[in-house]
Amino acid sequence: MRKKQFKAQSKKLLDMMINSIYTHKEIFLRELISNASDALDKQYYNSLTVKSAASRNDYVIGIEADKEARTLTISDNGCGMTAEELDNNLGTIAKSGSLDFKSSDEKEKSELEIIGQFGVGFYSAFMVSDKVVVESRANGEETANRWVSDGADGYTVEECAVDFEHGTVITLYLKENAEDEDYDRFLDFYEISRLVKKYSDYIRYPIMMENEKRVPVEKAEGEEDSEPEYETVKAPEQLNSMVPIWRKNKNEISEEEYNGFYQDKFYDYEAPLRVIHSKNEGMPAYDALVYIPSHAPFNYYSKDYEKGLQLYSNGVMITEKCADLLPDYFSFAKGLVDSPDLSLNISRELLQHDRQLKVIARNIEKKIKSELEKMLSDEREKYESFFSAFGLQIKFGIYSSYGMAKDALQNLVIFKSSFEDKYTTLSEYVSRMKEEQKVIYYACGETVDKIKLLPQTEAVNHAGFEVLYLTDDVDEFMLKMMRDFDSKTFVNVCTDNLDLGDENKELLAAENKENEELLSFIKETLSEKVSEARFTNKLRSHPVCLTSGGEISGEMERIINAMPAGEKIKAQMVLEINCDHPVAAKLKELYGKDNETLAKYAKLLYSSACLISGMAVENPVEMSSLICELMV
Ligand code: ADP
Repeated sequence: MRKKQFKAQSKKLLDMMINSIYTHKEIFLRELISNASDALDKQYYNSLTVKSAASRNDYVIGIEADKEARTLTISDNGCGMTAEELDNNLGTIAKSGSLDFKSSDEKEKSELEIIGQFGVGFYSAFMVSDKVVVESRANGEETANRWVSDGADGYTVEECAVDFEHGTVITLYLKENAEDEDYDRFLDFYEISRLVKKYSDYIRYPIMMENEKRVPVEKAEGEEDSEPEYETVKAPEQLNSMVPIWRKNKNEISEEEYNGFYQDKFYDYEAPLRVIHSKNEGMPAYDALVYIPSHAPFNYYSKDYEKGLQLYSNGVMITEKCADLLPDYFSFAKGLVDSPDLSLNISRELLQHDRQLKVIARNIEKKIKSELEKMLSDEREKYESFFSAFGLQIKFGIYSSYGMAKDALQNLVIFKSSFEDKYTTLSEYVSRMKEEQKVIYYACGETVDKIKLLPQTEAVNHAGFEVLYLTDDVDEFMLKMMRDFDSKTFVNVCTDNLDLGDENKELLAAENKENEELLSFIKETLSEKVSEARFTNKLRSHPVCLTSGGEISGEMERIINAMPAGEKIKAQMVLEINCDHPVAAKLKELYGKDNETLAKYAKLLYSSACLISGMAVENPVEMSSLICELMV
């Protein structure tokens, strides 16, 4: 019999298969099962036109392992193949020719990824086998044929006898075990069962395999009390569960079922906060089942965390974590997408995958966003618990996109504020703004309590304006990226030119002018620590405060300089002195008379301003001795 050669592209692919890396090998089973399932589909649809159509239940995929012969057999009673089809279908791969196999290193690498992610069909059998035999009988044909190949050398096709009417039996002669490659595992019932569960659990036909079990021997009458005896029996077991929960209608699924599925599949001990189950009939058609967890996994805010949704093509898993399906700011979502429009096979355009995938990803993003907004408006408490787990990620989303994600995310951020001490959204804040209020005020600090004690917070509150309390490091950077909300800019209450709309601007300007020399003396005393000293009339009970001029606030300086790498920055700090406080009068009185004491007081005032703003005092020893000097 003449041996035929594989077509050129197939040969290249075959080489890749034979030399593929270990972790990918197991997907051969998924590929062969998917082919069997397709063949059953074809047979089923063809039979629909015949009067005595078989029912779906008559179709089955069988797996058999023969440990002695080291063969694994996958069979189906599907449409089968004629000799010509065996030749055409198994002699050529990638008929649509979408991948051209160049052999640069980069290309090789991506090809391996393709094997892992999308699979390459029948040829993957050669990843685990030295020889593959395919016996097939096409529906309605008199004869059956046997296709045999031991890989690179080509293949033969000849007639053979089979005992089935239609279908295909594929026998794999497994490779010998090598040092780090265990092919015997593919003969083990539990390993096969695990692989079916992992990749092919939702194939719509039963996947059956015989399992040996030890069962107690039934006792004869009168012998019930004797020692139990066991015997080994072989019985077929169904390995796949067949119906994926996401394919069912929403109203058929109970909350327990949704939650149980999530907890089993994604190893969470807690039920999710929200289930998003969506079905799309459009192009691409897909079912998505997405969960919002109730708490962040321990490694969520670390580099180890991998985002992604599982991707299925018609119930067959393609990839465990498809990162492209989720934007970083929704990386907390867990779940899966199943689309019949995504092909398992690389023979279709990979580019097309990308386009389809992008559409699905965009839809999922929109869906998560709208569900979160719904939760925010209808189930506030739940949303707050969501936000305390994942809010940081959303804030980072706005910040790291340089504000591009602002439209998507700005309505999802919440802050504590001086109004009622509860969380507020930005639009709720804006809805409470006074007519004369032009900007959104915020204050930063380590804790809400510390922020409340800031002299500037007190001043803005006294003027009747609400203040947002920012306690996360990323908060102020995020607002800088957002620039504004509803056309209202954000203003840190600690900026030097805070305009609270008071009428005494001119008076204050005159006061500063009049005391120009005193103020520059104070500034000189404090040297580079402050860029200016000035009087203010916005403070209430406090004598002094530190404000910042320019783009960088004191809080931003602290955060950036705390980072291990990168350049250090310096905010331009202004020492503001309450002109109505007795301390101001004291300073004026000392100037020109006792500048030595005045300098000491200036240092003390600066140190206390630092403390109040939550900054460290640079020279605590000096501060302490100055206080002692005052006492004795
Ligand atoms: P794909 O399934 O993506 O087309 P494969 O290399 O896996 O690529 O298979 C090539 C072709 O061989 C299939 O399209 C199908 O026509 C045929 N084929 C493979 N396995 C079977 C089977 N079990 N029964 C019938 N036809 C099969």
